[in-house]
Amino acid sequence: MTAAHTIRPHTLAIRSVLTWLAAPLCLIAFGLVSAQADLPLSTPRLPPETISPVDLERELKARWQAGGEIVVFPGPDGRPLAGRTPTPPADTEEEQARRLEHWRLAYKLNLVTAPGTGPPIALPLTPEQVALLARFALSDAGAVWFREVADDTLRLFNKGYLAYDEALWTAQRETGEPVRLSQLLTGGLSEAGLFTQDAALFRIFAHDGRGAMAANASIRLGREGLRCHFTLSDELVDPHAILSHEFGHTRYGDPKSAGTVLGEAATVAKYENPVRIRNGYPPRTMYYLRLDARTPVQPRDELLNRLLAQWRQGSVRIETLTPVERLYCECMEPEPIIRDCTAPPPAQTECSLRWLAVRVAPPEAE
Ligand SMILES: [Zn+2]
Repeated sequence: MTAAHTIRPHTLAIRSVLTWLAAPLCLIAFGLVSAQADLPLSTPRLPPETISPVDLERELKARWQAGGEIVVFPGPDGRPLAGRTPTPPADTEEEQARRLEHWRLAYKLNLVTAPGTGPPIALPLTPEQVALLARFALSDAGAVWFREVADDTLRLFNKGYLAYDEALWTAQRETGEPVRLSQLLTGGLSEAGLFTQDAALFRIFAHDGRGAMAANASIRLGREGLRCHFTLSDELVDPHAILSHEFGHTRYGDPKSAGTVLGEAATVAKYENPVRIRNGYPPRTMYYLRLDARTPVQPRDELLNRLLAQWRQGSVRIETLTPVERLYCECMEPEPIIRDCTAPPPAQTECSLRWLAVRVAPPEAE
């Protein structure tokens, strides 16, 4: 194989970027990444052909999170291919270099940072949002998600869907000088990528408003930022845990979880609480859904539909709705007041169901 397989990161450049980001790093040191035994250690592995959902709790218990180092090597036709070395990093610095390469790839390909470069609804991310994403990408949980985004990039690149700097690749072949995938990519799709149906780039962009949301192939961050507290419970918001929650709704987690109450509670349990606990925040025990004009009832959300049907009949029986912990109503008596509406309201009081509290599964015992 070529010299490209023994790329060592340019440690000085990495150090300076890490200093600039000033990201608090916390790697735990137990468990070992096992190398696949049947191939020589120098052979890069291509990423799996399909995405499998991230098991964040398991990943966070592993010693390292970024996966193998990305290497670029010539394919049978001389065009570059990208794979990963199967060897675990030697130390924290190498792990951080791998995380940083994932971040560079995402910055070039997946983040919308200039107007008109993303989907029609996308606004460019603000510098603060980019800085938050950078810190997240270099954290343990972020390293897991950005590794998945990078694996998508490798798949697209190996199919020939991403444009790359051909002069740089030719120079690499001649000099053997190592080249990083993030240097080689131009940030755009190749001609083949532009005309195929299956080159759906994952995008992270901004929207006008507050909070964050996600879909199968995108995450949107509100330009007004995140709240500091969850409205009803007053629990503190952990921005990294929110990002992990949103990744949990994408194709790298469980895309079916978005838009249903139980899916939200499961996302908090699987993808948000592990990060909160790691960052020193108490786990969220309840997911609160606000029912208003902006929360249209999803026909596929059985729990919510059942609850609203019972509510309309004036016969809410919470024991038939196992995961439901509490309902909050806004009652006019005579000033608007929020009350627990599982108990019948005082006579002649007009109440409307406003909040639904669903239990979040407690964290797995160690
Ligand atoms: Zn959600």
